[in-house]
Amino acid sequence: MSEPTPPRAIDVDREHSLTLTWDDGTTTRVALEELRQGCPCAECRTRRDQGLAIWPVDSSPHPLQIVNAHLVGNWGLGITWNDGHNTGIYSWTLLHPE
Ligand SMILES: [Zn+2]
Repeated sequence: MSEPTPPRAIDVDREHSLTLTWDDGTTTRVALEELRQGCPCAECRTRRDQGLAIWPVDSSPHPLQIVNAHLVGNWGLGITWNDGHNTGIYSWTLLHPE
């Protein structure tokens, strides 16, 4: 098992979606809501386990937006959301379809 290669291109549309272009030329496009609801951080995992909503909640700003996105080492993307959440790191393994 080798680690997935980082995408060739990362296109952050702060109000709509994240698009990744992989080395083989395929692209993965994820809507922001889906990305936010799939946040891999411990807090969101716990909320999912408890059947609680991750987004939107009462205090969620609308529309959902990405404030900042940054590479984390060679293995993923850290995202800061406009609701202040920033603990989720989306690994290439998580974002790359099987
Ligand atoms: Zn989270």
